[in-house]
Amino acid sequence: MESSRKNKSLYLTQEIKSMLEMCAHGLLNPVTTLMNHHEYDMVNATGIYQGMSLPFPFILAPNGKKNLAVLKAAKQGEKLKLVCDGQIFGEICVNEIFTIDKETFFKKLMGGDLTSQKAKTLYAQLGNYAISGSYTLKKVSHFADMIYLIEQRKLMLHAKNISAFMLQANPIHRVHERIIRICYDSSDLLVLFIVKPYKDNGLLPFELRQKILQLTIDNYFLANRLLIIPLDDSYLFNGANHVILNAIIVQNLGCTRFIIGRNHMGLSLFYESNQIHTIFDSLQGIRLDVQILSEYVYCKQCGTIVSIISCPHGAHHHIHYHTKSMLELFNLGIPPPNILVRKEISAMILERLYPNRFKKMEQLYKGISPSKLLDEYGDKSFYSDFLSLYQAQMVN
Ligand SMILES: [Zn+2]
Repeated sequence: MESSRKNKSLYLTQEIKSMLEMCAHGLLNPVTTLMNHHEYDMVNATGIYQGMSLPFPFILAPNGKKNLAVLKAAKQGEKLKLVCDGQIFGEICVNEIFTIDKETFFKKLMGGDLTSQKAKTLYAQLGNYAISGSYTLKKVSHFADMIYLIEQRKLMLHAKNISAFMLQANPIHRVHERIIRICYDSSDLLVLFIVKPYKDNGLLPFELRQKILQLTIDNYFLANRLLIIPLDDSYLFNGANHVILNAIIVQNLGCTRFIIGRNHMGLSLFYESNQIHTIFDSLQGIRLDVQILSEYVYCKQCGTIVSIISCPHGAHHHIHYHTKSMLELFNLGIPPPNILVRKEISAMILERLYPNRFKKMEQLYKGISPSKLLDEYGDKSFYSDFLSLYQAQMVN
């Protein structure tokens, strides 16, 4: 490991490193480097950068005693190391150091959410001094792989209509599946972005969410027109405005359509003259076809998943897909009904949350299950078969 102590260094979080990598790989075009003081003022005043709407200026303003001391002492033309988790990952050549209005920048960055835990964490990472200048990265980041993967698949399929859908898949449920199916049918290529946080923050482990999404795609779709892409979290994705940043990234990756749920924070959806309007109506530089999805529910009368616009039955017949409630059930050790989450997915999640539970429940299972030898079972099979019993019908 190269020592960072001998050099003048800026110590940055993973989220900031990720932001710098995205910019370096062209995912934030037309923003290609850190903004200087003039550009910072201009974007703050107009919300526009080179013809593209930007909710906040793209700056690097790290907090921390060491960082502030380095920034205060830095001279134009001087080179500073960029360090994350003790590793030097790049170098910046100082152009300007300027003070920022931290409160205003924070409000723009968060787009309204100023009190959540995420907002507080982010606020603590922000300093009062910003640095501009060109920077280089030591290694090609995984964003290069992402760009390559999408480009290859586009070429292979001669894809023209490329849709993007971002999801946490926490967990993936039947409505996700319905949405993926609808988008799949009308796209040459559908790219599913699954956001990868650096801390799980109450989410199911990333690797489990990704595995479950992959399993769903492999088992229930013709997978060649589907691509799952992990998207590293960045501090650009924190506030309500992150939907705009997501759109810019998706556009720079060559997608033509961006699919968003109507309840997405930051969409500012409203109706006028029976037309849906969103924040995208007033943005400049976004050429994507932005598709706003209906809200889907399970209707007990229809016996299937329906959009609330098309179903004539009342709300009292509708079962909603609240991921928070599903997670609470999982945390209590209870699998959600099969109409919400596929039983093999519930089995995988419960197996992870309650390892070796089967051993403890062996006697119970012996009492109610007729068939297989118990030795053949792992926890996943136990849950899966147990859930099948819930669906068994009485003949009379
Ligand atoms: Zn209905």
